Order: sequence, then structure tokens, then C-alpha cells
Amino acid sequence: MGKIGGFKEFKRQNETNLAVKSRVENYKEFTVPLPEKELKKQGSRCMDCGIPFCHSGCPLGNLIPDFNDMVHKGEWQKASDLLHATNNFPEFTGRLCPAPCEQACVLGIIDSPVAIEDIEKSIVEKAFANGWIQPILPKHRTGKTVAVIGSGPAGLAAAQQLNRAGHSVTVFERDDEIGGLLRYGIPNFKLEKEIIDRRIHILEKEGIIFKTNVDVGGNYDLKNLDYFDAIVLCGGATKKRALPIDGADAKGVVQAMDFLTQQTKQLFNKEIEGTLLSAKDKNVIVIGGGDTGSDCVGTSNRQGAKSVTNFEIMEKPPELRSEKTPWPFWPLQMKTSSSHEEGCDRNWLINTKEFIKNAKNELIAIKTAEVSWTFKPGERPILNEKPDSEKIWPCDMVLLALGFTGPETSLSEQLGLELDTRNNYKAKKYQTNVPHIFTAGDMRRGQSLIVWAISEGREAAKEIDTYLTSESFLSSKGKGDLLSAN
Ligand SMILES: Cc1cc2nc3c(=O)[nH]c(=O)nc-3n(C[C@H](O)[C@H](O)[C@H](O)COP(=O)(O)OP(=O)(O)OC[C@H]3O[C@@H](n4cnc5c(N)ncnc54)[C@H](O)[C@@H]3O)c2cc1C
Repeated sequence: MGKIGGFKEFKRQNETNLAVKSRVENYKEFTVPLPEKELKKQGSRCMDCGIPFCHSGCPLGNLIPDFNDMVHKGEWQKASDLLHATNNFPEFTGRLCPAPCEQACVLGIIDSPVAIEDIEKSIVEKAFANGWIQPILPKHRTGKTVAVIGSGPAGLAAAQQLNRAGHSVTVFERDDEIGGLLRYGIPNFKLEKEIIDRRIHILEKEGIIFKTNVDVGGNYDLKNLDYFDAIVLCGGATKKRALPIDGADAKGVVQAMDFLTQQTKQLFNKEIEGTLLSAKDKNVIVIGGGDTGSDCVGTSNRQGAKSVTNFEIMEKPPELRSEKTPWPFWPLQMKTSSSHEEGCDRNWLINTKEFIKNAKNELIAIKTAEVSWTFKPGERPILNEKPDSEKIWPCDMVLLALGFTGPETSLSEQLGLELDTRNNYKAKKYQTNVPHIFTAGDMRRGQSLIVWAISEGREAAKEIDTYLTSESFLSSKGKGDLLSAN
């Protein structure tokens, strides 16, 4: 531990953001990193607890107190090696993770937790800037072949781990670019797409083959997969949740993912599918208060919306951690994202009842009602509508950010794979009912987080390696020892 009592001496500092007025003029990232001197202080706030709860908070088991200490001492390259030993892509999690590690940080009981996520991002960015992140090629090839279907964080993590174990890996992606939701789901202002490309170049140099515009089971016959000794399905949970109420077919009722995907495609001069969706000069209502909803708010403001309103059907969370979710659990607590700060009228306990349209089938308003919830132990929560609370909200565009209902089932149907009770791909230790077919990420666990996708990709790779070679030296959660490969 670098500095005894550092947490008493220094207050938590975070990266700052550029002013709203300037950042909404473009789609670039807008964070201002902390200077190195400040980062060292932030690293020294880590108490090196006897039991570092941050480890258990992190699905990857990142060795957080150790890299905090290294940053405090200025040992940046060592910190990068240690961080990469448990996390293949800290540049993604360092930008986008909701940081369950910080919510589990022991310092959080009495003070602001250590700024772990900012430290993580600084380590990986310094490592890239200094050329410390170089391709690591396996020392020998096993002769075994693995197909990875889907190139989101789960597929990419599985591919890198399996390649390190010496297997020949091909990643198939039906989109025109690699990255899964990181590419066209998450807006450029949260993750500039060059950050993905920078990592893909490393993976290519390591020997991984990427094939885009290949829809496995669609324009790519499944018979071709017979060539591979093992297959890992990382197709995500991409079935969008609809809102099947009156008027849902109105022009102007749009799925959030269609809107977000189009915006990023336009930014990179890509061809877009369907009619152009634009929030410019429109009164926009975003239904759904999660990450996707927040991304729609930020994108609408950048496109020049006249107004942006956000509805959430759940009640407003408390400003401070709810007693129902004490430390070190993930807290039920009010979250204001940088997109919300950019301008948005937020409303809770609102249920949308009808999309109102004109004779030309164009959306002109929506009808809502205020609601409350009744919770009874062991029962599903009951939604109650408040009498006489209906309201009409004039609007020109509604973005449905209601999440995903689960993975697409075309692959499971064609390959004879079982689903679990929540309609996700069923697997035991990431292995489906067909022994050489494995699955990981949102496809297996349902809609989740990047950090979980990376963790699942790594864990699945270890199981596949064991299946192919009877034993595996790949690391598992929190045990990163891998960087020299096989
Ligand atoms: C708008 C939005 C914002 C988000 N923001 C955050 C955030 O800030 N932080 C966070 O932690 N998480 C966030 N998430 C969640 C996160 O992006 C996902 O949990 C994560 O990307 C899941 O990774 P995955 O690899 O399992 O699947 P995905 O990223 O969904 O990738 C699956 C890939 O498989 C491909 N595919 C599917 N079927 C086939 C096939 N048959 N053949 C070839 N390719 C196929 C798809 O095209 C896709 O590219 C967000 C999600 C959305 C939608």
C-alpha cells in the first residue's frame, strides 16, 4: 500500500466533462482526464483492505487494490499488465461500466469510494499511448479450430482467450463492422469507434480472423460450421421489446436501437436502412429510463430536438443509497447521466396508454396515466393506475427504449439448442446441450453489461479450451496469469 491514510488526506476526484453547450455540438467523447499527479493521489485513497470487496463487486475479479497502488507509485506499465491479466478490454469498461466495484469499495461505507473506473481508463490509455499494448501471439498452435458467432464484448473476449490458448479462431459478425452493441448501439459520444478499431487491430495481429457481413444461419450455411472443432455463440439479446398499445403503428413511434444505429451509421457515412429518423426540431419523448433511454436523450439533443422528455414507469429512486440495498450491494439510487444533464424533463411513475395520430398516420401526442406499485413478498409487483390522472403530451417522435426480451432463436432452432426458462440459450458451464457448441454473454444471461459479457467470454473460453485439450491454463475470474500465452 503506497500511502497510509491517503483516503483521509485526499478527496475523491473524477474526470470532468466539457461544458454541455460545446459537447452537444458534436458526437465526440467529452471527458477531460485527470492529470497524472491527481491520479496518483486517487490511487493512494485505496485502503488495501484485508478483504477487498471491490474484487467481488467486479465480475472480472479485477485486482483493484494492486493496480491502485501501482498507479500511486507511478508504476503504470506494471499496472497495465495487471489490469489486462483479468480484463481483455479495460478501455471499454473504463468508459462504460457502471462500476459495481466502486459500489462495493469499503471506503464507500464512510466516504466517497475510490475512483476505480477513472484509474482503470487512465491505465489503459497510458498503455496505448506508450505502445505497451502489443499483440501477444501464442507460442504454438494446437491445430484446433473455433468459430465465434457474434463480435460483441463476449465474442471478442472469448476469441482473444482461445487464440492465446493456441486455437485458430474465426469471428463471424453479421453487421458490417466488428463490436456488437459497442459499435452501433452505444453512441459515439460515449465510446468513439476508433477505440474499438484500435483493439481489433491488435486482435488481428494476434492471428484472429474476422469475417463481417456474415449472418450465420442466414447468408452463411450452418453446414460450413462443420469445419470447426468448437463453436461459441455470442449473438447477444437483440429482440427489442415493443409497446403494443393503440396507435403503435404511427409514423414517429421508433425503436431506440433503430434510432441510435442510424445516427452512428450516418456519422461514418454508412448506408442506412429504412427512412431517415431524425429528432431535429421535434418534441421527443423517450420511454424507458435505463442506459438506452439515456443514450436516446443525448442523441436527440445532439440532433437538435426542440424538447426531450423522458418517462420511467418505476418510482424515482432515492437520492442516497436505499436501505433495501446496503453496502456492498448494487445500490438502488438516483442516477443522473451526462446525457440527462444535457437537457431532459424526467418523469417517473408514468404509464403510456396510447399513441395518438392524425389522419396521415403521423404521431401527434401520447396519452399517459400516473401509476403506483404494490409490492407483496413472493408475488409479482402490481401496477395501479391513479384515477383521473390521464394526460395528453403533444409530441412528434417517441423513442421506445424498453430493453430487450431476449436472444433471437433462429440459431437455437436450426442447431437444436435448448432455451432456459427466460428464453435465453441454456448452458451448463457455458456448454449447450450440443457438446461442441458453447454460448456466452447476453445470449446466455439475457440483457446485461459489458463487464459481464467480457467475463462470460473469458469463462466460456476456459471451458472450451478444456473441452478441446482436456486441461486449460487460461485464467478464470480474478486469476490473471495469462499474458505470456501458451
Ligand atoms: C443503447 C445501449 C447502451 C448500452 N450502454 C451500456 C453501458 O453504458 N455500459 C454497459 O456496461 N453496458 C451497456 N449496454 C449493454 C451492453 O452493450 C451489452 O450488455 C453487451 O454489448 C453484450 O455483449 P455481447 O457480446 O453478449 O452481445 P452484443 O454486444 O449484443 O453482440 C452480439 C453480436 O452478435 C451478432 N450476431 C447475432 N447473431 C448473429 C449471427 N447469426 N451471425 C453473425 N453475427 C450475429 C450481432 O450482430 C452483434 O454484433 C448498452 C446496451 C445498449 C443497447
